[in-house]
Amino acid sequence: MSAVNETLIRDVVAEVLGRLGGTATVTAKSSPAPAPAPKSESCGCSVKKSSASPALRGKFGVFATAEEACEAAQEAFLQLKEKGIEARRKIENIVKSLAEKNAEAWGKIEYDETKIGRLDHKIAKLGLIKLVPGVDWLRPDARSGDHGITLEEYTPFGVVGAITPSTHSIPTLSGNIVNICAAGNSVVFNAHPSAARCAAVAVRAYNEAIYRETGIENIACIIEKPSLDSFNALCKSEFTRLLLVTGGPMVVKAAMQTGKRAICAGPGNPPVFVDDTCCLTRAAKAIISGAAFDNNLLCIGEKQVFVLDHVADKLMQKMSENGAVKLNQSQLEKLTKAAFTITPGQGGGCAHAHTNKDFIGKDTSVLAQAAGINIPSGTQLLFGETDAMHPFVQEEQMMPMLPIVRVKSVEEGIALSLQSEHNYKHTAIIHSHDVENITAMARALDTTLFVKNGPSPAGLGLGGEGYLSFSIATPTGEGITNPRTFTRVRRCVMVDNLRIY
Ligand code: NAD
Repeated sequence: MSAVNETLIRDVVAEVLGRLGGTATVTAKSSPAPAPAPKSESCGCSVKKSSASPALRGKFGVFATAEEACEAAQEAFLQLKEKGIEARRKIENIVKSLAEKNAEAWGKIEYDETKIGRLDHKIAKLGLIKLVPGVDWLRPDARSGDHGITLEEYTPFGVVGAITPSTHSIPTLSGNIVNICAAGNSVVFNAHPSAARCAAVAVRAYNEAIYRETGIENIACIIEKPSLDSFNALCKSEFTRLLLVTGGPMVVKAAMQTGKRAICAGPGNPPVFVDDTCCLTRAAKAIISGAAFDNNLLCIGEKQVFVLDHVADKLMQKMSENGAVKLNQSQLEKLTKAAFTITPGQGGGCAHAHTNKDFIGKDTSVLAQAAGINIPSGTQLLFGETDAMHPFVQEEQMMPMLPIVRVKSVEEGIALSLQSEHNYKHTAIIHSHDVENITAMARALDTTLFVKNGPSPAGLGLGGEGYLSFSIATPTGEGITNPRTFTRVRRCVMVDNLRIY
């Protein structure tokens, strides 16, 4: 920490302005109001104790209103600023170790609350938070020349308002805390209403541990009963400097209309293209493991496959050999009727399909029952042949059921992949050993993630190189979020000096 005491500076400014008869513009809200330091850290000096509202004490991040949560988070941000990088590092370590330690218990409460996805994968996702980049990610950029030195540092904004999805509530929240606090910010969450109780359990546990270790009480806050009103209040708060939205098209649109800067991790509908140069066994295994993960709730998960006609049968055979079950046309038709509501188009428009929420993230056994087929227990994935305009292809259906579409050429495969991705610019996957096909698809799809010859999670460092985040900023372009995503770049220039050679 700096030897110059910032609290003291603010107090002196206030005193001088007072003597001059003016009003100090440095208000109580903008002055650091540290919570009482934990006993072990108390040095007994005369630094002022917190003057914060008692209503914000003892909540450990869980608040009834967005206003209270934002005020508490602002206070925590100022405390974190005082306590420096070491406190950020402690927060990162606490979140990573508690997520891993509580993976089973928290995975279960999230599963019990949301009733979507797979318990084993909910647990696995929490065990992965340790792969999210933290404090060490931030390195300043420096320039040195005849005119001295210049440093560009990645500095915090303050309070970040974050919206989390129902599909991975605690994992998204945990990864977001690591990223956001590593950069020196605090955060207020408006979780999905159907995954808010589990999120509050994790937030409370994190804050209790963070308070014990650092004396900072509300570094990650949450609105206990989130609603559209609390979303609006969170966005409107004077303390909220930045938004991070992880969810579907509606919330992305809503966030972009708030007038605040929004980092949006939006929807996807990832296509897979399989050509005749790849290893079909490897492709089949990768497609199954990516599409089956958490019953295909992941935004990056394989949602539809386009395959060259003359290798399609072999790919499907390999999928069957590796644990996926093929539906015939009548079974597929039954499932489609149950899984989608198709509204006829008006005035010559196209028919529109709405996904039936009762099937989102459900086990293959539930889907198989609707299709009228008995499948072995533990079946990872269903698949069936469809045309390119089928609702299973066009909708982001988030079910462990993969439509397979035959194509006549590489060009057709890439064109249909592009069409089905709907310009979300999220994720695409290819299985090919032909570098020209790979390059052509990468250029045409223009997605944030492009995975070659592996399952989609390889794009998040799970079996591929790279780092993890559960928030992939797609329409706004920040990519896989990391601590730097939540920083302001500030330049500090020393003219003509300090270049040492
Ligand atoms: P959702 O859009 O229904 O909800 C996401 C969040 O937004 C929730 O907190 C919800 O309460 C809120 N919300 C929804 N509509 C809103 C509105 N009009 N105003 C304010 N808030 C609103 O999504 P979901 O079903 O929870 O999650 C699945 C979706 O999220 C999929 O589309 C998936 O692709 C996407 N997703 C994207 C990423 C990514 O990193 N890009 C990660 C996970 C999920």
